[in-house]
Amino acid sequence: MSSVLSRVGRPAAPDLPFAERVIAWQRTHGRHALPWQNTRDPYRIWLSEIMLQQTQVATVIPYYERFLARYPDVASLAAAPDADVMALWAGLGYYTRARNLHRCAREIVTQWGGQFPPDAASIATLPGIGRSTAAAIAAFAYGERAAILDGNVRRVFARHFGIEGDPASTRVQQVMWRHADAELPALRAETEAQANAMRAYTQGLMDLGATLCTRGVPDCGRCPVRSTCVALREARQHELPTPRVRKVSPERTTHLLWIEHDGRILLERRPPTGIWGGLVSLPEFDGEDAVAACRRLGIPADAAHPQTPFLHVFTHFRLTATPWRIAAAEPGTLSDPAHTWVPLAELADAGLPAPIRKLLVTSAQGTLL
Ligand code: SF4
Repeated sequence: MSSVLSRVGRPAAPDLPFAERVIAWQRTHGRHALPWQNTRDPYRIWLSEIMLQQTQVATVIPYYERFLARYPDVASLAAAPDADVMALWAGLGYYTRARNLHRCAREIVTQWGGQFPPDAASIATLPGIGRSTAAAIAAFAYGERAAILDGNVRRVFARHFGIEGDPASTRVQQVMWRHADAELPALRAETEAQANAMRAYTQGLMDLGATLCTRGVPDCGRCPVRSTCVALREARQHELPTPRVRKVSPERTTHLLWIEHDGRILLERRPPTGIWGGLVSLPEFDGEDAVAACRRLGIPADAAHPQTPFLHVFTHFRLTATPWRIAAAEPGTLSDPAHTWVPLAELADAGLPAPIRKLLVTSAQGTLL
């Protein structure tokens, strides 16, 4: 192994298997100090893997630490009220992840006696956990020999093996999974050596995609698999993976009631599904008549003032929202339990979607939060 380590930084030996080069590189050049590393606790590993989906490491770290401080194990998460979990996730986006996380915790408690399932195949049956995430949890927690294929790994494989075609297509996915299975580290006789090799290899693939084989300009000069990389050999790093044909996102509009009374603001808990599902937000209305919409909520109002619309880009559409600001003379009688008056000083902990929180923070009363 030392001869391998000594070659890191120079062209790696092409006769060494792909996995061995990734493992050697990870052990000397990979990441080892992320908050969710150096644990074998599947709960912590699972939490980090879900949070890291489509989200940067730097964004995830404070959420991960707050989440663990509040819910240190799967039982405490399973027992938590929905609203508290959503409030803690607010701002991290892709809220289906939080709903599935909570469902999954409850299922582990009710179906698995509070213990994480023992292998990748069983983990993949849980809500919100796909094949690659299940494999990553099993590899890090148990050292299982299971292949991952997340977004970063797809990019590395597309370039290294010269795989063309839409990465989201079934055909390309199948090709990628064949490579993912075929390139797993060779079986080792000793169990602990096998488990540690799997941990280093899984982390190494992730690190390679996150730190060297990046979306923009890959750092091929320091790459441990450059001697066999098709994209580097053919100078096609910028053509692979094949760019996806992006559809034009549909445009949607909405209107929001921004009602204040006596240092409080009216918030609405949104239905569990749909955009910002389960979070609290400003009540939506059709834009016809803000004063009438306010009265329908049980709050007397005389005038409403439209604010500058803001744009928020979701995965599948672009939403333009116009807030209507209303100063209510009295709190009225709220008939719907989804509505509640929240003191402005408590908005920071209310679990608002990021754009609504930003709107309120940067409002004329910029001292709200
Ligand atoms: S040589 Fe360059 S393009 Fe190929 S896998 Fe390494 S970083 Fe990516």
